[in-house]
Amino acid sequence: MRGGNYYNPEMIKTIQCNANSDPGVNWHMKKTVEQADKHLCNGNEFWWNFVAGNSIPRGAVPGETISGCPECGDEFLNKYGTYGWICLTENNTWKIQCPNCGMKFPSNDFKRFYDSGLNQDGFFESELADRSLLVNEIYPQYGPEKYVDDGTGYIDENGHSWAFAAYYHHWGIWLGLNGREKNQTGNIHTVLRHLADAWVYTGDVRYAITGLILLYRVSMIYPSMDLNVWMRRPGRPYRNSDGHRLQGKVVGSIWETFFSEGLCEAADAFLPVLDRYPKEIEEAFQPFATVNVQKIEESIIDGIVRQVYPGVKNGSILGNEGMHQAALAMAAVCMGRCEESEEWLDFLFRSGSSFSEKHPKMKISVHVTGGNIFGVLENKVDRDGMGDECSLGYNCLWLRQLYRLADILSFYPGIKGSAYDINRHPKMLMMYKSYMPWVIDERYVPNIGDNGSTGNPGLILTGSEDLKLLVDGYFLTKDPRILTYINMVWPDAKKGKFESSRITGKEKMMELLKQADLSEMKFYEKSDNACGFGNCILRQPEKDGNFVNFYYGRTVGHGHWDKLNFELFYKGINISPDLGYPEYCEAGFHNRLEWNNHTLSHNCVMVDDQCQKTTYHPGNVKGFEDDSIVKYIDVDAPDVYDNADMYNRSLSMIEVSPGKAYIVDFFRVSGGELHRFSLHGGEGPLTMKGVELEKKPGTVAGVDIAYGDNRDRHKGVGSGLSYLYDVEQCNSPGNNIEAIWQVKDTWGVTKGKIESISFKAWLLGSFSEIIKAKGKPPQNKPGNPKYLNYLLAVKRGRGLKSRFTSVYEAYEGQPEIVHLEEVSIKVMDPGSMKGHPGYVAGGVKVLLSGGTVDYICSSVCEDTEFLVDDKIRFKGRLGFLRTKEGKVLYALLSKGTLLEYGEKGYQFALSSPYESIRGCIKDFEKQFSEYHFVDVIFDQAPDLLTEIIGRTIHIQPAGPWNASYEIVDAYLQENNCYRLILNRTTVKGRDQEGNYTYLFKENASFEIPVLRTT
Ligand SMILES: [Zn+2]
Ligand SMILES: [Zn+2]
Repeated sequence: MRGGNYYNPEMIKTIQCNANSDPGVNWHMKKTVEQADKHLCNGNEFWWNFVAGNSIPRGAVPGETISGCPECGDEFLNKYGTYGWICLTENNTWKIQCPNCGMKFPSNDFKRFYDSGLNQDGFFESELADRSLLVNEIYPQYGPEKYVDDGTGYIDENGHSWAFAAYYHHWGIWLGLNGREKNQTGNIHTVLRHLADAWVYTGDVRYAITGLILLYRVSMIYPSMDLNVWMRRPGRPYRNSDGHRLQGKVVGSIWETFFSEGLCEAADAFLPVLDRYPKEIEEAFQPFATVNVQKIEESIIDGIVRQVYPGVKNGSILGNEGMHQAALAMAAVCMGRCEESEEWLDFLFRSGSSFSEKHPKMKISVHVTGGNIFGVLENKVDRDGMGDECSLGYNCLWLRQLYRLADILSFYPGIKGSAYDINRHPKMLMMYKSYMPWVIDERYVPNIGDNGSTGNPGLILTGSEDLKLLVDGYFLTKDPRILTYINMVWPDAKKGKFESSRITGKEKMMELLKQADLSEMKFYEKSDNACGFGNCILRQPEKDGNFVNFYYGRTVGHGHWDKLNFELFYKGINISPDLGYPEYCEAGFHNRLEWNNHTLSHNCVMVDDQCQKTTYHPGNVKGFEDDSIVKYIDVDAPDVYDNADMYNRSLSMIEVSPGKAYIVDFFRVSGGELHRFSLHGGEGPLTMKGVELEKKPGTVAGVDIAYGDNRDRHKGVGSGLSYLYDVEQCNSPGNNIEAIWQVKDTWGVTKGKIESISFKAWLLGSFSEIIKAKGKPPQNKPGNPKYLNYLLAVKRGRGLKSRFTSVYEAYEGQPEIVHLEEVSIKVMDPGSMKGHPGYVAGGVKVLLSGGTVDYICSSVCEDTEFLVDDKIRFKGRLGFLRTKEGKVLYALLSKGTLLEYGEKGYQFALSSPYESIRGCIKDFEKQFSEYHFVDVIFDQAPDLLTEIIGRTIHIQPAGPWNASYEIVDAYLQENNCYRLILNRTTVKGRDQEGNYTYLFKENASFEIPVLRTT
């Protein structure tokens, strides 16, 4: 059946039911109907004539580069953004207006010119138009030619082209996306959406009739819409979302996916009306075209629905993964089950990719060989269910798009339970759960890569379609954390307010949400370590407590060169924020790569004044603990610098009391001759103790190097140092540096309750230089600070081995840490020692306000015994002792065999016969399933299997990534073989021939670090 498959009778009933029972949906219905009524008021003739053709280009921004308004310049840009123009569509004027200065463009009466060039079908042909009308009419002071546009644009006195009419054509006439379309009547995309929704909500056929007239008119022109004709012109004068492939139909190929999907969805809603109201429809068409309902259906199917398949294949409908697939899926669903749509479906699931080639006429031609849906899920989505983008903002588009695809496909007759039902795929199921771990203090997500502003709060999945996704995701996965998340973000959902019209299973979900709300299970009190994606969140269980986000994932895909970077949160404020989304993500804006995304602007160590290399995999996890007192993450990233063979950071968050903690940071770098440890706080002044700072002209790059100057730009991104200005420097610093940032509540998170938080850092050890300087966050993101204060602690030397030991405490009022010093370290068994002891092992002694003394010891040589402060014997990776009046209150030993404290006859010891449980892998999960396991032989089986449950297993990986997992369960099988149930899959991917690849090999060795506490 053509049409009525997505909007089938059952779906329509659900929507109408939800509109009656859910106040959010009811509000949406009223608003939609109000909008749709306005569209009806414009009359069918208006909409018939509204549709324009390929003879006028489309442009997503008026300028040929990122530029403001030709009159008021960048002031417009900074206030309203690139898409801030207003399209004056009332009476279809073909003018755009700058909201800042009020000027209108073009200056000629383009509407009259357009009307003078209409052919017999009512479409514009520029050869027919009266060129004498191309005169500046509204700004006589500028002469007759200024800002005149014949449709192809206006070239200004500097040779820059401005696409006024093309912008109007893009946003005013055709596309509606994310509220960017600022116009009065609505464009074709949104008008069809409103009319279809209003028809489904109310069953009032008037909406459907106008919708059909508009859709029919579009179907006359849609096959001939080809943006390449315009995009291939020299200099690429029109800017569109085409991924620089120069393809598209109405708009650039990426957004064309949304547009074509929208057309097919509207067609699905309207086509069944043809059978039911033939007389009314034919009558309404009469003034424009003498057609019967069969002809109307044919035209819509031919001119729209059948255009998607060739469009996807030739790259004119081609977006990020999931987008063009969703468009083609919607075409297939609208078409109903038939030979043609079966072919489309086969294409969707065929493995393949897109290829671009030079083309004599088109400049670039594209062909796509398959929708590759399983290939995307199996090879591009990681084992944590995350797509291949660092930035969570971009990454969540994967989830939304693949969910949208799954949702659309589920309406294709016969697909449920078939091989094409992607909701059965274990990776898809993992995706539904993938965003639940990312919540920090109920209000933040990790700000990784190109995402958000500098330290702003905000969760990712918060829209009403996201709620539908999560509800469906829960029913598919039964992940209880989804319920907690829904209750947190949509507290009224359990009372029946879901806001999504298409949601099903509401009653059941309300019951589940109520139960979850009452239950004791709290999912955001534990730390989360996502080894597949490469990010760890250390959490105190209290709201407004201390939180650490530590990123060790890939750095490609809207990523920054920020491996081993952290952000800190306290009292609801991000006190050491990532800079977030750069000013502009495109060539020519150097501050993106040379500063915003650069290692130097992050809390990282820069080696030899070079940026980290791009990496494609997460680092190697060396330790992770989520103890009640000690939360700890330890990761190696040896691939980021060619000249450094160790690049390791361990962060331990030590609880002082509920909601209060401090953080101990050991950052080890081996290799190179210059190490710069970069640290910054949020917005606010920085004061320092232990250094005499002297003002220096220029930038950190040099006294004669100006801000943003990069003399080696042709060679790469440079050192970033010229982006640090207002320099103060000390060349003979003392041994212990104290730095305090007074961090403001930039984003008003505490609603005025807290003006600022003190963020104090102790940097222990000796340094060659200490530098204080300012660095700028992106300045075109509303609300971003003007600058942040940076601190660089520099070490220089041949064959440098640095252990940067730092302690951080955030506090309001008085700090908990009274005094702090580095411990003395002696090697007890020098024979076992690899490397220099001062580098390998280190520790701090922390005196707290209540008289408690904490010791935190760290070593990267777990087999060597050290004597710490002449009273602690330590052999392991991480040791923690909390003492008072010479007695141990609490102790923790991670991946170690000995932690002993002795003083004045008092003796305390934690010990273990082995620091890790080791063995080798015999068998494991060989294809994607929801049952993840490894069968292992232990070198020496643990006394109690329960000892390893909840622990992390590190398997020797088969490549430059990690194979670390949480052990969920364990039991003895036979002949000393044990089965360990893991939290994630062991499968890495599947190649085009269908062969599986794995994260490690058979017989790989593994270790499970043991934990000992009092
Ligand atoms: Zn302006
Ligand atoms: Zn960053």
